[in-house]
Amino acid sequence: MSKSAEIICVGTELLLGDIVDTNSQHLSRGLAEIGINLFHRETVGDNHDRLVCVLKRAISENDIVITSGGLGATCDDITKEGVAEAMGLKLVLHEPSLERIKEHYRRRDAVMTENNVKQAYLPEGAIVFDNDYGTAPITAVQKDGKTVIMLPGVPRELVPMFDEKIKPWLKEQYSDAIIVSRNLRLYGIGEAAAEDLLRDLMDSYQNPTIAPYAKTGEVLLRLTAKGQSEKECNALIDSLFEKVEERVGQYIYGIDVGSLEEAMSRVCREKGLTVSFAESCTGGMCAKRVIDLPGASKVIGMSVVTYHGSAKQKLLGVKSETIEKYGLISHECAKEMAVGLLSLSEADIAVSVTGVAGPDTDEGKAIGTVYIGVASKRGVRSSFINLARGKREREYIRTLAANAAINEARLEALLLNQ
Ligand code: ATP
Ligand code: MG
Repeated sequence: MSKSAEIICVGTELLLGDIVDTNSQHLSRGLAEIGINLFHRETVGDNHDRLVCVLKRAISENDIVITSGGLGATCDDITKEGVAEAMGLKLVLHEPSLERIKEHYRRRDAVMTENNVKQAYLPEGAIVFDNDYGTAPITAVQKDGKTVIMLPGVPRELVPMFDEKIKPWLKEQYSDAIIVSRNLRLYGIGEAAAEDLLRDLMDSYQNPTIAPYAKTGEVLLRLTAKGQSEKECNALIDSLFEKVEERVGQYIYGIDVGSLEEAMSRVCREKGLTVSFAESCTGGMCAKRVIDLPGASKVIGMSVVTYHGSAKQKLLGVKSETIEKYGLISHECAKEMAVGLLSLSEADIAVSVTGVAGPDTDEGKAIGTVYIGVASKRGVRSSFINLARGKREREYIRTLAANAAINEARLEALLLNQ
């Protein structure tokens, strides 16, 4: 049977919204990785009675309770006292911890105050983990089959101490399963449509499970399995993956990749291809997203932003007749931009974007009208996308347009054999 845990964050500043609770997120992920169930998370202020009340409830409902914060040396740090009371234990001086704290101050040539001695008082019988990142002793207190682990609130102490000491300890003590996830990234299908195609699998599968998440302009499908080993989990995921692939395989652009640009860059690097963008309404977003990734210099050498018609003419050689006849937002213009860019940049793949991001319409074309041109040694093509469904923000349309352009670059890279 999997064990269950609850996280309790202690701190009035969390309740006031002064700080964001990143500790819970980190702890939650870590617990999931070692197969410990987390059914509740709680936040309580720096108030002794309320803390004791929350602790008692959490201890009664779970095998493991992990607290974050309130372990400092000041009087508003009340977690240890609360845990001792909730568990019916006394606080006793822990000599090795006192020595460590003294040593900490000696090394820094700082004066240790009486308050710091308070940090060395721990619930009787507590297991102590040396805190390599601060002074607060980190403890696990066990009684009647229940464990309470107290971690300091400061993330730069909590995160490494949890990862390096507590997580392995918990895994050894409690974990009878591990959890493995595989993230499928889909482009070209909405969340609702993906759910429609996968509904019966989502309903019938308990292990592994399948869960869709909507991202901006794309869908993330997470397949998660629980088992005794990574191998077992992967085998479970493989069998579900086959079924998922049958239904939505054509939309999957990557597995465990971070983004469209990452998937695109990966293909380019594998094939030794370079890409260049000529951007209008996206204003450099495509280039930025590719260049944000490490190793971008192998993939992208130059990119241009040609916003006005004159820039498209001057830099990319778009013909004035084309602009007069078809407009800047057209298949013809997108293609000429791409062809011009291919020779200007000498990249293997040249992709152009021209469209209307709003808030005003342009050339009588609706907001969200976007044309993407692609040129390579395979030839030139263009595609039209209509992002104008519903009321859309300028930024959103630009992001979707950049997604489409990066995806076109990815598809072209897949088709080019070099
Ligand atoms: P200290 O010795 O600094 O008093 P502590 O263990 O008593 O540490 P707190 O006083 O509760 O911890 O919090 C210290 C600081 O850590 C907070 O001011 C805040 O910046 C950060 N912190 C506390 N709880 C969280 C949390 N849940 N998520 C992210 N940061 C947190
Ligand atoms: Mg504190």
